[in-house]
Amino acid sequence: MLIHTDYSIKNLNSFHIDVKAKYFIEINEENELTQLLHTDEYALNKRLVLGEGSNILFTEKFDGLIIKLNTKGISVIEESETEAVVESAAGEKWDNFVKFCVENKLYGAENLSGIPGTVGAAPVQNIGAYGTELKDIFHSLEGYFTDGMRKGYFEPEDCEFDYRASVFKDRFKNAFIITKVRFRLSKLHSLHLNYRDLKEIYKDQPAESILLADVRESILGIRSNKLPDPYEFGNAGSFFKNPEISNRKFKELHEKYPDIVHFKVDSTTVKVPAAWLIEKCGLKGYRLGQTATHSKQPLVIINLGSAKGKEIAEFADFIQAKVKKKFQIDLIPEVNII
Ligand SMILES: Cc1cc2nc3c(=O)[nH]c(=O)nc-3n(C[C@H](O)[C@H](O)[C@H](O)COP(=O)(O)OP(=O)(O)OC[C@H]3O[C@@H](n4cnc5c(N)ncnc54)[C@H](O)[C@@H]3O)c2cc1C
Repeated sequence: MLIHTDYSIKNLNSFHIDVKAKYFIEINEENELTQLLHTDEYALNKRLVLGEGSNILFTEKFDGLIIKLNTKGISVIEESETEAVVESAAGEKWDNFVKFCVENKLYGAENLSGIPGTVGAAPVQNIGAYGTELKDIFHSLEGYFTDGMRKGYFEPEDCEFDYRASVFKDRFKNAFIITKVRFRLSKLHSLHLNYRDLKEIYKDQPAESILLADVRESILGIRSNKLPDPYEFGNAGSFFKNPEISNRKFKELHEKYPDIVHFKVDSTTVKVPAAWLIEKCGLKGYRLGQTATHSKQPLVIINLGSAKGKEIAEFADFIQAKVKKKFQIDLIPEVNII
């Protein structure tokens, strides 16, 4: 097996940060993971599993082994008249999986069209968009505990899925390598069009006449209008999570800012958009050195060209401090800062 030394990962992270990994290996077949276990590069170093690097900010050289999963394959492994279970290898592009579902008239994944990254990384932060989260279609996953490459299986109740969170982003961070993910999709016409932009697009169309493929196209269109293309300006999508605050805190804010947008989480908690908070601090489209917030979506931090990872992390600190000072709310990064 080929383990590279001092390997540039500039083209393997969506911020395009020019850093190196001390060791780097690409895994094309799952059985190579068990061989990897017996190498010194694996045994003696810290490790990081890399998908497409679209949710990672590297702030310095990675002084360990980066394992990039390139395993491929998507297939229906079980089906009934109303449902199908689709299994995908971790190294598949997430959007190829969504495309597969739409082409096979399987409902449930379409609102997650166009999210960058791999299938293996998708459960890590329970990816979500336009009113749908991975957990809504998740069936199970398998992989290996990095300690000894013991095989592990996870069902929904084991994953502790939450808003941009799971056991794999927390307790098992860097301790479990996801190799296969299974999803349960519906064969019945069932679309989720409650999200504002989708409601607007389909307002005059009877629900039963709306095609699955059209919803995917609509989502791809909305995304490309709102989000910067990482090939043009390096970014990792939303940099921060939307903060959840108490009803009491929300009431205080609402009195001062009657236009504040909010979503009820439960009887005690309200979620407020981080983008709104950042914009109210005057930081929409704000530039600092080689970094900026995007002019259409201030929750996205962009690399204007040659920013170092540290510079982006410092800019994120600056935004957090401004929001904290103005609203006494802590913004928590969604991106993995390494
Ligand atoms: C333009 C843009 C838009 C985005 N929009 C959204 C969005 O709408 N919704 C959303 O939720 N996210 C969004 N993201 C974030 C990102 O696409 C997702 O988090 C995606 O799942 C990351 O996949 P990746 O393969 O690039 O993971 P990476 O960035 O490579 O890794 C992310 C984390 O997962 C771990 N990991 C990766 N693969 C595995 C594996 N096989 N086993 C165990 N751990 C693993 C890594 O170690 C790391 O901690 C966006 C990003 C960009 C750049």
